[in-house]
Amino acid sequence: MSETIETWFDQPLVFTIAARHVRGRLVRLGPVLNTIMAAHSYPPVAEKLLAEALVLTVLLGSTLKDEGGQLTLQAQTGGGPVELLVCDYKGGELRGYLKFDAEKLAEIGPDPTLFALFGEGFLAITFDQATTGERYQGIVPLEGSSIGDAAEHYFEQSEQIPSLIKLAARHDAEAGCVAGGLLVQHLPEGEVGRDRLHVRHDHPEWEHARTIAATLKDEELTDPATSLETLAWRLFHEDEVRVEAGVTVSRGCRCSVDYFAGVLAQFPDGERRDMADGDGKIVVDCAFCSRIFPIPLDEISGQN
Ligand SMILES: [Zn+2]
Repeated sequence: MSETIETWFDQPLVFTIAARHVRGRLVRLGPVLNTIMAAHSYPPVAEKLLAEALVLTVLLGSTLKDEGGQLTLQAQTGGGPVELLVCDYKGGELRGYLKFDAEKLAEIGPDPTLFALFGEGFLAITFDQATTGERYQGIVPLEGSSIGDAAEHYFEQSEQIPSLIKLAARHDAEAGCVAGGLLVQHLPEGEVGRDRLHVRHDHPEWEHARTIAATLKDEELTDPATSLETLAWRLFHEDEVRVEAGVTVSRGCRCSVDYFAGVLAQFPDGERRDMADGDGKIVVDCAFCSRIFPIPLDEISGQN
């Protein structure tokens, strides 16, 4: 393992184990998570779900080859207490929110399955490549114990990339919300991004890496005192692991007066007038960051 870079919070560790055709990502989010959560007041179960989804978003977003690319996770309810969960990542900027029925959510236990949270819901994972304009989207059922299980199925079914994903989140008295995750993938062609390959479960080098990765504990992922390099080294010390620091993650919301004015311009004039308050302004709040935008009617250039 190579020398000095050390990653702790809000910066993924990118690693490859060439001999096993394995690529991986480790990430632990702290300050960025608390910035995102501060815009809302989520109960513990909702906070944990969103924290794990944000970690997954960074893990997957950091595999995008082009910097302007975007990764979007969207989970839709199938009648469960959580109605909607949306996260996206673009060039290190991360945001996310969820909508839920507070009464129904209060009735479920502290460690719910995906079915308890979403009912028979679905997870859409979308990769948008900026340079080529290509879009890959896969939709998988929200089944299993965590949103990471659903993402594993996505890679297995849509991408034919054997993958292991571990996610963990907890609330720390001092650090606030802390969450971490590990993504390990088998790419027989090495670090080749999005190339296709046949699913094969009989690769001993992958089985070995997968078995080792599965031993990583939730407490290790969320332990602020252990660097990500230390975690990678503990797991894969038998192998030659190449590591590099990924892009630092910050809370980034792309909401603006112009953005909402553009959305409102799609509505008929009459409906816009009905939405406006006594001062002739439509007040919009951003679902991601809770910022409030009072937009004067005369600043919206409608087509109708
Ligand atoms: Zn916003």
